[in-house]
Amino acid sequence: MPVFEYAPAPESRAIANLKDHYKPFVNGEFVDGSGEPLKTINPATEEVLAEVGTASKSDVDTAVKAARKAYDSVWSKMPGTERAKYLFRIARLIQERSRELAVLESLDNGKPIKESRDSDVPTAAAHFFYHAGWADKLEYAGYGPNPKPLGVAGQIIPWNFPLLMLAWKIAPALATGNTVVLKPAETTPLTALVFAEICQQAELPPGVVNILPGAGDIGASIVEHADIDKIAFTGSTDVGKAIQRQVAGTAKKLTLELGGKAANIVFEDAPLDQAVDGIVNGIFFNQGHVCCAGSRLLVQESIADEVLEKLRYRVSTLRIGDPLDKNTDVGAINSAEQLAKIRGLVESGDAEGAQRWTSPCPVPDRGFFFAPTVFANVHQSMRIAREEIFGPVLSVLTFRTPDEAVAKANNTPYGLSAGIWTEKGSRILWMANQLRAGVVWANTFNRFDPAAPFGGYQESGFGREGGRTGLEAYLSV
Ligand code: NDP
Repeated sequence: MPVFEYAPAPESRAIANLKDHYKPFVNGEFVDGSGEPLKTINPATEEVLAEVGTASKSDVDTAVKAARKAYDSVWSKMPGTERAKYLFRIARLIQERSRELAVLESLDNGKPIKESRDSDVPTAAAHFFYHAGWADKLEYAGYGPNPKPLGVAGQIIPWNFPLLMLAWKIAPALATGNTVVLKPAETTPLTALVFAEICQQAELPPGVVNILPGAGDIGASIVEHADIDKIAFTGSTDVGKAIQRQVAGTAKKLTLELGGKAANIVFEDAPLDQAVDGIVNGIFFNQGHVCCAGSRLLVQESIADEVLEKLRYRVSTLRIGDPLDKNTDVGAINSAEQLAKIRGLVESGDAEGAQRWTSPCPVPDRGFFFAPTVFANVHQSMRIAREEIFGPVLSVLTFRTPDEAVAKANNTPYGLSAGIWTEKGSRILWMANQLRAGVVWANTFNRFDPAAPFGGYQESGFGREGGRTGLEAYLSV
């Protein structure tokens, strides 16, 4: 089959309204943080995008005080019908500024514009719309007649879905009457600070949302602050464990959404072309920087050669490069550190004897890029089968029977997601019951909806975000 050449179709970077300098957002205003400013870069070109003021420990204290005051005096007292209007306004403003947010996200994070435009930003708006609907119905949510908010929530988010993770955290917190102090990741602070502008536009009362850019130590200061009632964290399992140790023995509530090593399981009766596209979406979406990525492909032995051949062909058609080009499928790796981590794990795959295939696609010589890679002949003991690579690298294992598929899928310290590809509904239900994973997709992968709870087992963390269940994490019930 011929592969068509595409003409460049770059989105205009001017839409991002990039400023030279951004500031922390405390008590409804942009303030000079007293931390060391950081420079955020475009991972596709390594150029500096902007200087960002950061918070210090004393700024954390000021932000928590502002959040407490807003909680006590305004937000916890406001009827749900009124809170809902603010969430609704925020959702509409995200939609109105969606092109700006999408371009800014792709510049700061490196993800392809078609993903930030069609997935991250609309799903972030959807979270606010969805939670606006809950704000006045909490007493009917099954948590008793009078569920109460917790107070001030400290929220720490990673760099892989900067605006979307912010929405996952802030929308349920506000809907349930809590106020927020949020730290975006050091490498991707920009859309969070545009979101702060949106809070101003929506005339959200000062102090309800506070945004503090900074490094991990600012995250730790939020976690240890005595006047925080709840911590919500998404990120690596190691930092999640450290946070759990930090809050042990305090009254703080905690939810942790951590890493994963999901099995995407393909049976011989699956619709193979559809499955191949699902495998590609499962691991190459967002450069594989996805906690629930289908990074372990388990394929039934009888079809393994055919699936690998189809997969290599399909992956070789993916276009890697400029995140702002509308035809780009795989963008930039978010940072030099992450690129080094991916390279290290891929080298371990070579050293341990897995069979590496890398897409022959042209790779830009500037910026942080990694060509889509598929490892065959992977054994369960190899690092590439056990550790989260968080990059565009797929490990392929085989199985013969459904029981063997379940045993291999569950042979992981994680438990965030899984995928099943088969035409048999009974097998889907049986497998879904056996798999120890928070989300199980059937004949699809990486589908998200604000109404569907998301979260993990084991080292993937605890607590759920989204849906009715997700409200519980922000309520005293
Ligand atoms: P981290 O867990 O270090 O970062 C997540 C967030 O926590 C960031 O905002 C980070 O700040 C902050 N943070 C760092 N240290 C602390 C601390 N001691 N207390 C409180 N907050 C802290 O992830 P990395 O960015 O370092 O990524 C490393 C690996 O983690 C990846 O390779 C991937 O395997 C995994 N990961 C998993 C994610 C998921 O969605 N489950 C998301 C991101 C990463 P700062 O950004 O400034 O360091």
